[in-house]
Amino acid sequence: AATLGILGGGQLAQMLALAALPLGVQVRVLEPDAEAPARLCAEHVHAPYTDPAGLDALAACDAVTLEFENVPVESLDALRGRVPVRPGAGLLARSKHRAREKAALQEAGARTAPFVVIQREADLDGALDRVGGQGILKTSELGYDGKGQVRVASDTDLRQGWAELGQVACILEGFVTFEREVSLAVARTADGRLAFGPLVENVHRDGILRTSVYPAAVPDGTEARAREMARAVAEGWGLEGLLTLEFFQVPDGDLLVNEVAPRVHNSGHLTQDGGGASQFEAQVRAVLGLPLSDWSPLLPCAMVNYVGVEGAAPDWAAIDALPGTRVHLYHKAHRTGRKLGHVNLAAPDLPTLHQRLAQLEQLIP
Ligand code: ATP
Ligand code: MG
Ligand code: MG
Repeated sequence: AATLGILGGGQLAQMLALAALPLGVQVRVLEPDAEAPARLCAEHVHAPYTDPAGLDALAACDAVTLEFENVPVESLDALRGRVPVRPGAGLLARSKHRAREKAALQEAGARTAPFVVIQREADLDGALDRVGGQGILKTSELGYDGKGQVRVASDTDLRQGWAELGQVACILEGFVTFEREVSLAVARTADGRLAFGPLVENVHRDGILRTSVYPAAVPDGTEARAREMARAVAEGWGLEGLLTLEFFQVPDGDLLVNEVAPRVHNSGHLTQDGGGASQFEAQVRAVLGLPLSDWSPLLPCAMVNYVGVEGAAPDWAAIDALPGTRVHLYHKAHRTGRKLGHVNLAAPDLPTLHQRLAQLEQLIP
């Protein structure tokens, strides 16, 4: 049996491990948190990401992948030449740093929102005007679920926002008035075979993904455009493994890339229960060089995230009673604002999906 190493042991590693097992693949995760989700379904090497013995344990695997972009690039460098790491250090370095990522996206031919790199106080001068007068200031590193971001509509906001964020390296992005948000994943093997995931429509609440729906209600040509940009990034960045692009669809119908995740993505969880292969299986296959094909679901499907809310809980009995639901829990301690699980929903047709999705949303605070 093959062994796949994963840097990170969160819920994405849990679900990668669950998808790997039936393919004859065992998973070993390097993860410093003793309580991390993947501890229950994978071999847990409980050590820091840079621990030499921990990295030796990964080097003994057939290939190594990521489930988390905030791992040090040095860990990947330390594995170089010992085991294939997919995606590799170069791709990780780009996708974990918003300024580098935006520049590399434009280099690959993808459209993005206008942006200005903020490194020192003087960079704030005139920055807001250059991105169109309204923007979002984002820390270049370590942000997720909308953390490390401030909306700004004046120079005063911008200066205050930068102080709030600790005057660390940031980008100021122009505010995009979008029609909708969509995402798409692409997988590529080391020998250059490509496959695509579904185009999914996403709705965020307070900076955190709330629901994803497949198929996305988009104008003709949108999926082809998303695939074109995904292919350009995958090939331009030399992807081995899987990455996910988040897009804004703007009023002229075109897509702007918001950001790239070098891995499976929350918006792809619905592929677990829509029929066909899941994004997790796709990442395992791509990383290990196994046969790979597109993994769009066979049925209309959706996902609702279960995020911790103080004093409120989902109505599990009613959720189970709704036809077509499947619950996925991450074995994490309850904390407000923390992603604790998700519920997938599949339906025989789109009207039924939308009707049941509205019911499901009522059951998850
Ligand atoms: P994730 O959890 O997806 O990694 P993140 O913290 O990296 O989130 P972003 O994806 O940059 O954050 O932003 C979160 C959400 O905020 C976006 O999905 C979108 O809804 C909104 N948003 C971000 N940037 C912009 C923008 N330039 N214009 C308008 N809305 C934006
Ligand atoms: Mg992000
Ligand atoms: Mg995002």
